[in-house]
Amino acid sequence: MRISQIDVYQVDLPYSGGTYTLSGGRTYTSFDATFVRITTDTGLTGWGESTPFGSTYIAAHARGVRAGIEEITPHLIGMDPRHVDRINEAMDDALVGHHHAKTPIDVACWDLFGKAVNMPVCDLLGGRTQEKLPLISSIYTGEPDEMRARVQQHREKGYTAHSVKVGDDPALDAARLTAALADRQPGEFFLADANGGMTVEQALRMLRLLPAGLDFVLEAPCATWRECVSLKRRTDVPILWDELGDSEEAIAQLISEDAADGIGLKISKNGGLTRCRRQRDMCIAAGYTMSVQDTTGSDIAFAAIVHMAQTIPKKYLRSVLGAPDMMALKTADGDFHVVDGHVQAPHSPGLGIAPRMDVMGDPIATYN
Ligand SMILES: [Mg+2]
Repeated sequence: MRISQIDVYQVDLPYSGGTYTLSGGRTYTSFDATFVRITTDTGLTGWGESTPFGSTYIAAHARGVRAGIEEITPHLIGMDPRHVDRINEAMDDALVGHHHAKTPIDVACWDLFGKAVNMPVCDLLGGRTQEKLPLISSIYTGEPDEMRARVQQHREKGYTAHSVKVGDDPALDAARLTAALADRQPGEFFLADANGGMTVEQALRMLRLLPAGLDFVLEAPCATWRECVSLKRRTDVPILWDELGDSEEAIAQLISEDAADGIGLKISKNGGLTRCRRQRDMCIAAGYTMSVQDTTGSDIAFAAIVHMAQTIPKKYLRSVLGAPDMMALKTADGDFHVVDGHVQAPHSPGLGIAPRMDVMGDPIATYN
């Protein structure tokens, strides 16, 4: 089986909730998504998606995804897409870094691999667990009572994991977190996610203002490695790394510095399923918990999230991101039905998705 053609599609995904707000005054109303279709000489096709969270979340942006794909694709024509490690070596030889550009190609290769051997991707990644995967809510910043109400809305839909956004004034953040956890039910899991928006001073002040006994994990408190390590050494609150925990190299460094308790494993931030497979195993070896997510995305990105998460033992898996919930547009169909806030990977071959070609439109670039 050889790669004969790579097509690129672009779709704007409107945010389903109007305006999404993050620390530092960042706002988002729509996300620029890139989709890749790889066609092989057997006629089989595979799909992948890369949707950065705008251009102000990490060092990635949508036009960069497409420029990176253009740089990489000439080196992949003629290769066997099932040889995923060799594909990733070829991508690294063609372009340094740029996980967001490599991810849709890597994921499309896994989709093809699964279709070629008639197995779902999660089984190729090590075999499915029997777990129902808990979706995590994404509670953007707002007034404390209003954030509490949004947690409750998700709770009523069956969500047992919640990501509460913080990262402004310490007193306001403490009030937000206290309100969001006020109705906490047994078994619920809470992240307080600052998306790198706090200084160490701000984070320590917020933590001192919280009532005793609040059960949560602090995520991505600060923007830099030094600040996060400093904070980790000065608090007993568990810390999950997200934006800065983006590679095998970063995870090796975190383990050597004893600087983390868990990782936000985001498929495109962390470099695709091939790299996330290695990072998953490193995290399990280190005793790190994982929240499997993506920077955002629609149905194809969600399929990759679910297949990866379906291979992680319950002890280490805290949540998955139901990214399509955030989008007002559906890009693909598949058996990814969310029941009571939980999802399981389908048994169909590959990712188990059928892209909606009327939404994809015509390719904006074709390489062969
Ligand atoms: Mg995060």
